[in-house]
Amino acid sequence: MDAPTRIDETVPIAEGVEMPWLGLGTWRMRGDDGEVETAVAAALEAGYRSIDTAAVYGNEEAVGRAIRDSGVPREQIFVTTKLWNDAHGYRPALRALEASLERLGLTYVDLYLIHWPVEGRFLETWRALELLHAEGRSRAIGVSNFLGHHLELLLENTERRPAVNQIEFHPRLVQPALLRFCHGHGIRPEAWSPLMKGRIGEIPELRAIAEAHGKTPAQIALRWNIQRGVVTIPKSRSPERIRENAGLFDFSLSPEELERIDALDRNDRIGPHPDDFA
Ligand code: NDP
Repeated sequence: MDAPTRIDETVPIAEGVEMPWLGLGTWRMRGDDGEVETAVAAALEAGYRSIDTAAVYGNEEAVGRAIRDSGVPREQIFVTTKLWNDAHGYRPALRALEASLERLGLTYVDLYLIHWPVEGRFLETWRALELLHAEGRSRAIGVSNFLGHHLELLLENTERRPAVNQIEFHPRLVQPALLRFCHGHGIRPEAWSPLMKGRIGEIPELRAIAEAHGKTPAQIALRWNIQRGVVTIPKSRSPERIRENAGLFDFSLSPEELERIDALDRNDRIGPHPDDFA
C-alpha cells in the first residue's frame, strides 16, 4: 500500500469501515474549560476527521459537544472511545458503551476499544463487544495495549478479530515483533504517544532528518508512523501545533530514513507495561 499523500485518505480496518490515518488525541484535555472544544474545532478546520477519547479521560461529553457544534456531519467524523478497566465482563461492557454513547450524545461510535488487557477478563468483554458491533453500536471493535500473547488468546477463542490495536509507539519504542504480528493478522496498529508526550524534538537524529526536509521533528515522527502502516493520533491543545501535526502528507521519507528512525528504538516505554498495569 502506498503511503497516504492527503489528509482525507483512509485505511480499511473492517468490512465497510475506513479509518483516517491521522486523528486528534484528547488524553489530559479537560472537559470543563473549553479546551476540548477549541482543539476539536481547530482539528476539524485543519482537515482531521478522527477524534480519540476514552471513558477514563472524563471528556466524552465535551468531545460530543464539540462534534455537534462543528457543523461537520456526524458520519464524516470517525469517533473512537474505550472501555476502562473497571468495566470488564459481559454485562458491564454492554453497559459501558451505552454510558459512553450517552455522554457523547451519539447513537454509535466508529471504533470501541478495550483500553487494557485485564488478565482473565478480556475474552468475556470481547464477546460483549462482538454483540455491540453486531447491533451497530460500534462500527468496528478493537483493543489497546495488547501484546502478542493477548492477541493470540483473543484470536484463538473469539469470532471476530480486532480491527485495531492501539499501542504506545514512537521512535524509542518500535516493537517490531508486535507490529509484524498485527500486520500479519489484519489488525491495524495505531500509535499512542507518537510524539513521546512532547519530547520528540529531543532526539538529534530526528532533528537532522527534519532539517533536511524543512519539517519539524513532530512531522517526521508522524510521517514515519504512517509510512510504517501505523495510524496516528497526536494530541495537542494548541491550534498551531494541531495544524503543524497535520503537515505530514506533502513529503515522503526515503527507505533509508525510515530505517534510521527504526534504529532509534531503545525499547523505552513512557507508559506502563501492559503485563504490569492491567
Ligand atoms: P503525544 O505523544 O501525542 O504528545 C502530546 C504532547 O505533545 C502534549 O504535551 C502536546 O502539548 C505536545 N505536542 C503536540 N504537538 C506537538 C508538536 N508539534 N511539537 C512539540 N510538542 C507537541 O501524547 P499522548 O500521550 O497524548 O498520546 C496521543 C493520544 O493517544 C492521547 O491523547 C490519547 O488520545 C491516546 N492515548 C492512548 C493511550 C492508551 O492506553 N490507549 C495511552 C495514552 C494516550 P500541547 O497540548 O501543549 O500542544
